[in-house]
Amino acid sequence: MFEKVLIANRGEIALRIHRACREMGIRTVAVHSTADNDAMHVRLADEAVCIGPPSAKDSYLNKAAILSAATITGADAIHPGYGFLSENADFAAMVEEHGFVFIGPSPDHIRMMGDKITAKQAAKGAGIPCVPGSEGALDTDQTALDCAEAIGYPVLIKATAGGGGKGMKVARTPEELREAWRLARNEAKAAFGNPDVYMEKYLGHPRHIEMQVLADNYGAVVHLGERDCSLQRRHQKVLEEAPSPALTPEQRAQIGETTRVAIAKLGYRNAGTIEYLYENGQFYFIEMNTRLQVEHPVTESITGIDLVREQIRIAAGAPLGYEQKDITFQGHAIECRVNAEDPQTFAPSPGRITGYHAPGGLGVRVDSGLYAGYRIPPHYDSMIAKLIVSGNTRAETLMRLKRALGEYVIDGVKTTLPLHNRLVGDEDFQNGDYDIHWLEKFVAQHS
Ligand code: ADP
Repeated sequence: MFEKVLIANRGEIALRIHRACREMGIRTVAVHSTADNDAMHVRLADEAVCIGPPSAKDSYLNKAAILSAATITGADAIHPGYGFLSENADFAAMVEEHGFVFIGPSPDHIRMMGDKITAKQAAKGAGIPCVPGSEGALDTDQTALDCAEAIGYPVLIKATAGGGGKGMKVARTPEELREAWRLARNEAKAAFGNPDVYMEKYLGHPRHIEMQVLADNYGAVVHLGERDCSLQRRHQKVLEEAPSPALTPEQRAQIGETTRVAIAKLGYRNAGTIEYLYENGQFYFIEMNTRLQVEHPVTESITGIDLVREQIRIAAGAPLGYEQKDITFQGHAIECRVNAEDPQTFAPSPGRITGYHAPGGLGVRVDSGLYAGYRIPPHYDSMIAKLIVSGNTRAETLMRLKRALGEYVIDGVKTTLPLHNRLVGDEDFQNGDYDIHWLEKFVAQHS
């Protein structure tokens, strides 16, 4: 097992990884920008190294500075968390070239899944159903028009290098498509430095359902069930739950097995998530995330498996040690992402936390680096906490969530807690009756 792990991230996920390491008897190295001198992940780690100024590109994305920090502290392995360098194949390769272990999949798998077109081809080849769409990139608007003609409108233009919902445009007519193709290419070039776009049939009322997998270095693969992440704003997840209120145990077992077999065929290792859209009883692959997900705690709640611990064990060469038949699902869990944002306009609201009280009690987990007096820097993602609540049934979980939200105090900045409060009181949500477009309408109604 590793003796020391460097955590190449910040915020709640850096803390989450630190906690898993601590429980495994592994020492931790935090890295941080000058804006994060007082951050909780820096305070709790065994050692901390400042790797640059506030701007992420000069600190948390600074590969050389992170590798230097690993060298001077004598770390054995690097955990990238999510975001930042977690899906950067070049970084994963550099980590290995410098003699450290990358806690994640191989650079080749990260590269394959990082490009949406090669990812889709690989998924299809491994037996996973995909959304009908273009075979490859759409180089001209005429190719796009021909493709839309073949699959039928409405269609969605997506960036090959996409992430975070950027570079996505819907088109309902050929006129709209010409414009969407041009706009999406510009947006993709600006966001990812790669203008390539492809096309998918635009699904009208799907749910976003993703399957969590774990694979060791020796071919053993298990799936840990699904998460329903349909509640999204601007294609960004806001609240996630497990299991999905929309699936039967048979459907879960079926898509789980398809996913498990595909992951084994691909020779993938470590933790990963296959994201699907689910409509009219059909699953359609949209992408694979080759890292830990923000919403992983809901899976931990219903399986009792510590996903970060498993990532570390696998990276250290340990066999999984259990099979699919050993995985059982117990109860229900819901995660609310709490952002430092105006709950009406969603404008970022960084600043000083003047008062803080986290909820507690049975079935309540708060993953956050917040404390009273902490100043949220304006340079990074606005997610400041995750409230994860679990119960024996969905109904019990909802009651508990309502109770926990009522206890949560974050003073000094605006947060999205009021949005979550409204959500738990909504009848459609309580009935589990929502698709990926539902939250946008809900937000519009309440603004
Ligand atoms: P990104 O990597 O940018 O997050 P994804 O492919 O994961 O992009 O899609 C993000 C979200 O966009 C999905 O969860 C879903 O809400 C929506 N979406 C993606 N593909 C489609 C599609 N073919 N039809 C309808 N909505 C889609």
